[in-house]
Amino acid sequence: MFFSEEGARWALIVHGGAKEMEPDERADNRSGVIEAAEAGRAVLEKGGSAIDAVVAAIEVLERLPVFNAGRGSALNEAGDIEMCSGVMDGRDLSVGAVGAIKHVRHPVAVARDVLPEKEVLLVGEGALRFALAKGHDEVPTEALITETRREALKEMHDTVGAVAMDTGGNIAAGTSTGGLTGAKVGRVGDSPMPGAGLYADNHVGGVAFSGDGETITRLALAAQVMASIGKDGPEDAIRKAVDQLPGTGGAEADGGAIAIRKDGTIGWTHNSPDFAVAYLTSDMEAPRAFLSKDEEKSG
Ligand code: ASP
Repeated sequence: MFFSEEGARWALIVHGGAKEMEPDERADNRSGVIEAAEAGRAVLEKGGSAIDAVVAAIEVLERLPVFNAGRGSALNEAGDIEMCSGVMDGRDLSVGAVGAIKHVRHPVAVARDVLPEKEVLLVGEGALRFALAKGHDEVPTEALITETRREALKEMHDTVGAVAMDTGGNIAAGTSTGGLTGAKVGRVGDSPMPGAGLYADNHVGGVAFSGDGETITRLALAAQVMASIGKDGPEDAIRKAVDQLPGTGGAEADGGAIAIRKDGTIGWTHNSPDFAVAYLTSDMEAPRAFLSKDEEKSG
């Protein structure tokens, strides 16, 4: 996906997680990533920043219960919800992130508020205290739990994410997740950690991962993509990254990622059964949405 030569150019890609979808979840996954892409488009078309577009897109995915972020987050071993989110601004390499935060509807909005602070990552009680001081509402965990998640027994990888390039050529990346079903209390995965679950640098590009968080972190997969995206392009860079997951994390370790190179090239791929993605650029009338790479190839 390349830009034409004309006009103010922007690009956006969002995803709804590397996972295996139930048949009855497919329509909601597709409409959800499209709605998120449209929210990001509304920001970018008006000349808004990549970071604002990423936050707007992720807030949609956090609101929709079909995704494991915000409302609809996975339950940990205590039957509780602890969420992680990170945003990174490629203009100045600033990062705002929260880990194992409870009682907020939009972890990505809290991460956005951490962005201008000296700190990169706030966790647990401290993250909630910061959120409340910034005016975020405190919501009971019950308001974030959905019946589907309460009944979910299998581990699901379905962090959400977004990467955007604005008309100024600035690149941002973001993630948000309820983590893994049945995870230990206090667990923080790759999603809020720069170099693991996300990265953005205007001089290189941006990337956001979903998948087996411990393995993604051990392999520093976002850092690997940033190191190779210039030469390989986003899709091959991600492919090389996700191909390493089973070797390090075991046969079941899977994941996927979305990326934009600094020239505006968009790429995505995954080794999970499904990975809902929507992308669009200033050259496109409507978002293109797919539930897997195979669907894009065959379509
Ligand atoms: N990467 C996330 C984590 O480990 C899980 C996911 O992608 O759904 O917390």
